Amino acid sequence: MQEPADPEPADPADLPELTGLARLPKAHLHLHLTGGMRPATLLELAAEQGRSLPRGLLDPAAADLDVTVLRGWWKFQRLYDAARALLAGPAQVRRVVAEIAEDERAAGSGWVELQVDPTTYAPRLGGLQATVELLLDAMAGAARDTGVGMALVVAANRTRHPAEAETLSRLARRFAGRGVVGFGLSNDETRGDTAAFAKAFRLARDAGLLAVPHAGELRGPRSVRAAVERLGAGRLGHGIRAVEDPALLALLAERGVALEVCPTANVALGVLPDVSRVPVPALRAAGVDVALGADDPLLFRSGLVEQYAAVRAAHELSPAALADLAACSVRASCAPEEVKARLLAGVRRWLAGVRPGGGATAAGVDGAGVTAADVPD
Ligand SMILES: [Zn+2]
Repeated sequence: MQEPADPEPADPADLPELTGLARLPKAHLHLHLTGGMRPATLLELAAEQGRSLPRGLLDPAAADLDVTVLRGWWKFQRLYDAARALLAGPAQVRRVVAEIAEDERAAGSGWVELQVDPTTYAPRLGGLQATVELLLDAMAGAARDTGVGMALVVAANRTRHPAEAETLSRLARRFAGRGVVGFGLSNDETRGDTAAFAKAFRLARDAGLLAVPHAGELRGPRSVRAAVERLGAGRLGHGIRAVEDPALLALLAERGVALEVCPTANVALGVLPDVSRVPVPALRAAGVDVALGADDPLLFRSGLVEQYAAVRAAHELSPAALADLAACSVRASCAPEEVKARLLAGVRRWLAGVRPGGGATAAGVDGAGVTAADVPD
């Protein structure tokens, strides 16, 4: 089927534009479980359970989510905790996982790595191990139903004692090769000593898990360097402030440490004033792989396609640059090689303007006429 070329300038709020970006195959590497809940599901679960919700959760756009101010993170965390409490048992977890897979399929994701700190769910789900088993089972089912590959990143909370992280790391190790692909470190980045989590990360890496801590969003380049050098990060949640240190950028490029960059989250949390300041072109120019992510769509009301649309609009990215970002996300993922090859081939087809099962468009997906040769493998 032919797609008519749009003669108007690109507008990210334009439905056809988002549809085009949704057809770009990609991997989603920065998504938290509760943060992936649909707003409609939030309302339904709250009604079922007779819970009232904080106003900020009902209308996050009107809420002040600036985490850079005093007690800012606490306010954000309070909203997140209220939403998470709605995942009251296995049925709710299975529902949210299934809906995430459906939403990701609609966004063009062929592979999703879901990040979960099991400690916060465990009391309601029968313990830590039962929580991971439930998640893996739910994800396997959702993957079968949607065709979207799903894997789990077990994340520790950096505001808790490092011994807890070591417990989680040992738990994650048990499921290495069985659905758990990485080990993360999340929560308020301004708290906790990164180096204190070195043992937990060594245990995870020794089992073949990818180290994917959050760093370099609320703290500067030193936090990124600590995550790479002390935790052996193979990929980083955020990491955007690495752009302030050219030597660090060179280190990330040399080691192939990709950054999971979440533009609308950075802006919503007050870290950057607008998406034009999210340094995607600078990072790519330095040779650092960038995988766009949505972080918590429930709180930022912005999914994965919207991240591509936002950076496209803010930085006037070409189709080749968008395809390059999608290819980065696939390369930086823990997907099996055959999945990566299939998705990368899809990226090249998108760029060449060829629809799966259809013919070529007249001038590429959005009229730029770029070729598949522009997308590196
Ligand atoms: Zn995150």
